[in-house]
Amino acid sequence: MEEEKRRGVVLVPCPFQGHINPMLQLGTTLHSMGFSITVAHTQFNYPDPSKHPDFIFIPIQDALTDTNTLSGNLIPFIKTLNINCEVPLQECLAQMMDQNQDQHGKVVCIIYDTLMYFSEAVANHLKLPSIVLRTSDAYSSLAYRSVLRLQAEGRSVPSIIQAIPPCIADSVLQDLVPGLHPLRFKDLPLSNFGPLENLLQLVTIISNIRTSSAIIWNTMDYLECPSLTQLQQQYKVPLFSVGPLHKISPASSSSLLEEDANCISWLDKQALNSVIYVSLGSLASLDEAALTEMAWGLANSNQPFLWVVRPGSIRGSEWIELLPETFKAKFGDTGYIVKWAPQGKVLAHGAVGGFWSHCGWNSTLESICEGVPMICWPCFGDQKVNARYLSCEWRIGLELEHMERGNIERAVRRLMVDKEGEEMRQRAMDLKEKAEVCIRKGGSSYNSLNDLKEIILSF
Ligand code: UDP
Repeated sequence: MEEEKRRGVVLVPCPFQGHINPMLQLGTTLHSMGFSITVAHTQFNYPDPSKHPDFIFIPIQDALTDTNTLSGNLIPFIKTLNINCEVPLQECLAQMMDQNQDQHGKVVCIIYDTLMYFSEAVANHLKLPSIVLRTSDAYSSLAYRSVLRLQAEGRSVPSIIQAIPPCIADSVLQDLVPGLHPLRFKDLPLSNFGPLENLLQLVTIISNIRTSSAIIWNTMDYLECPSLTQLQQQYKVPLFSVGPLHKISPASSSSLLEEDANCISWLDKQALNSVIYVSLGSLASLDEAALTEMAWGLANSNQPFLWVVRPGSIRGSEWIELLPETFKAKFGDTGYIVKWAPQGKVLAHGAVGGFWSHCGWNSTLESICEGVPMICWPCFGDQKVNARYLSCEWRIGLELEHMERGNIERAVRRLMVDKEGEEMRQRAMDLKEKAEVCIRKGGSSYNSLNDLKEIILSF
């Protein structure tokens, strides 16, 4: 262990909540295995070092402007991040490796978020091995790779996704994608990212891991076995499926926003499995019309609800000013609205019987690990793939077709009151048990983590 203690791993997280959480959870796990951990982070959305006293934090000058961070346009943002951060990261690490080897141990590798792909060039320059962390599901990676293949074969993906007239579009979009059962064209993780060429350019870059030595996936073999097997055939380096990281290292929170702990006291007063928890994650936004439909759908369902409305997530308002006064008067004690929740604790609370989610991969894993069935309202990217698997393959999610109050009311009642929801809850509990087996001694994720440790020690 003493020998291992002196080996240092540098982590480069991507500065979004859904990426920071699994990276820091991985750091905590590796730290408990004897590695020293340095987190090289951007100035934008930086994690709170005081919550991780065992880690060393080094800021990278990201030179991001408000135009970069506030545009809401993810692809140009990621591109800028990769251009701006390469030299500063290289200089920081070179300096650290010169000065601090005794204090922090010899740096033996860089683990970087797949979206922070500039780190691979930095690792090469410093003659360090690198490993990629994928914070989304394996099915989506496979879907992206298939889209690139369809394109290479001359099949016009853009025309299917974007250019066809709406009346034809719907029927085509319902078609299954060849080789990607059960995904339909509408489930492909392509829309809402701006011009498709930009997305495909990014996908091409991140699909190719160049000189990196391995890929870590925050997933579990039993959930995504066919995709992981196919991906292992396509990538010539080891793949480590080490999830669910939040369960392996239930470390201190890495929330960028303050969690409202009062909602737990409110949940304490609710009946078992009675509350629907609603959150669309850290990035998705809604317009006023969608907010109003959500509100009335929830109120009319007559089920208690805990609703996260992230400040700034309703376009044209700061928080919940646009909620109709009549709704606020109606829900009274039946509902509780917060700006940000301690989601792990909420999903683990006995009162929570369902999760209406955007199906981000962390939220999906967190719900599965607590045996909570879901209503799926995917907004963009891999969320659509996750929603399809939740509803069609694992059968623990209901797809919400329209953001319309009658539709929402029915979905909430199907999940929370009807036998159908009870059966989904039972299946979710089965998946929860399987997740527990994965991380126990001898389980697939447990073994993968040990293999990962060995490869890092071999560097
Ligand atoms: N989260 C949280 N409190 C909230 C809402 C979300 O702590 O009120 C956390 C959630 O537990 C998850 C992350 O934020 O770990 C969101 O990641 P996800 O992949 O689900 O979605 P994204 O925000 O990336 O779209």
